[in-house]
Amino acid sequence: MIWNKARECMSRDELAVLQGKRLVELVGYMYHNAGYYKKKMRNLGLEPGDIRGIEDLEKLPFTTREDLIDAYPLGVFAMSNSKIIRYHASDHSTGYAGMETMAGYTQNDIDVWKECMARSVSMAGLGEGDVIQIAYNYGLCTDGISAHYGAEKVGAAVIPAADCRPTALIALMRRMQATGVISTSSYLMHVAQMVEHRGLKNSLQLKAAICGGEPWTENTREKIQDKLGIKAYDIFGLNELTGLGVACECERQRGMHIQEDFFLAEIVNTNTLLVLPGGARGELVFTTLQKEGIPLIRYRTMSITKINYEKCECGRTMARMDRLDYGTDDILQIRGNSVSVSQIEAALSGLPGIEASYIICIRKEHHLDVVDVFMEDFRMNETLMSGCGTDVKRQVADAVRNVIGVEPNVYYAESEKIKAFRGSSNEGSEMYVGRKVSIVDGRKY
Ligand SMILES: [Zn+2]
Repeated sequence: MIWNKARECMSRDELAVLQGKRLVELVGYMYHNAGYYKKKMRNLGLEPGDIRGIEDLEKLPFTTREDLIDAYPLGVFAMSNSKIIRYHASDHSTGYAGMETMAGYTQNDIDVWKECMARSVSMAGLGEGDVIQIAYNYGLCTDGISAHYGAEKVGAAVIPAADCRPTALIALMRRMQATGVISTSSYLMHVAQMVEHRGLKNSLQLKAAICGGEPWTENTREKIQDKLGIKAYDIFGLNELTGLGVACECERQRGMHIQEDFFLAEIVNTNTLLVLPGGARGELVFTTLQKEGIPLIRYRTMSITKINYEKCECGRTMARMDRLDYGTDDILQIRGNSVSVSQIEAALSGLPGIEASYIICIRKEHHLDVVDVFMEDFRMNETLMSGCGTDVKRQVADAVRNVIGVEPNVYYAESEKIKAFRGSSNEGSEMYVGRKVSIVDGRKY
């Protein structure tokens, strides 16, 4: 099912012409409306007339997340506030004071966003006649509303189910004969485990799921697909670019098609920042070709991937990006030592018979880093009830300590409790200084 064949299947030559035209317009727009970017261009001696097509893209300066943080909240806006009809913010919920970014959308920005999401939902084979449950939060971040836009635009019936616990979601899924679900992979994994445990797989009408908003592995995908008897598709978006829908997988599940008529992607070497040839792995960089509220030129995502420009078997010509590798973000600092997330992941995945989601929090207590490991898993609760819980906690603590060299606290917890914990530690004397690490199913993301 291809939502917009004229665009999604256009020839690469036509696409390059369209991208070039939009880039030239964008650069002129940014130069005259976004002061911070005009300054960057002037520092390099660049005038808008120097950019004549996508072949000149490399001349342009990069934009970083720090640029957005420094200009918070409205310094990077290129449109007067009266034209902005929506604000979304990132990171307010995680408590990184001073690390927030603010995005503003005009009506045209929202329309582009809806178009991208409609293409994405269609890629998952969902459309008119389908009943889609949306289990993302509808809030400051963009995931819930992204999914809602897409499902609604393709003509499906939408069930906003942001506040449903897995049991309630499954009950609703069966009663309403839902055919699609859009959520984070970790939440859907819980749902899938519960469906399997209760033997409900054959009572579902579910066909497809779209998961994004957090990293997940191929292994997790296979488990979700197997337990629910569906296909699960990966989707990508960034709050700074637009919500979800910047890229999504088609039925081939071989990389996410980037909506290149709206988002021009490059891969650069993280150290030299030089553009790498097609197929090479490097840092993903995006230019928003049609955004008005906060357009971004050469925005560094700090994430590592590669892009495949070959035509897909589905018929789409839009390039495909691989799952993201969170590159430099993968290293945690604990009591002065650098620990890679993949080391912790490897240790946890080596624990026999334990299927769990882990959230690792690092906070300061008397100026020392303290590590808390929260475990969410329904099987684990059964183990706990059968009296083996202490052993499981001990095994997890030992596995993590062997990697980080610090004895962690291990808790069983529900998401709400974790949020409450993290919220309170921001306000009290225990300052949350680390970052959340989700290790799902004992494997990396
Ligand atoms: Zn495809």
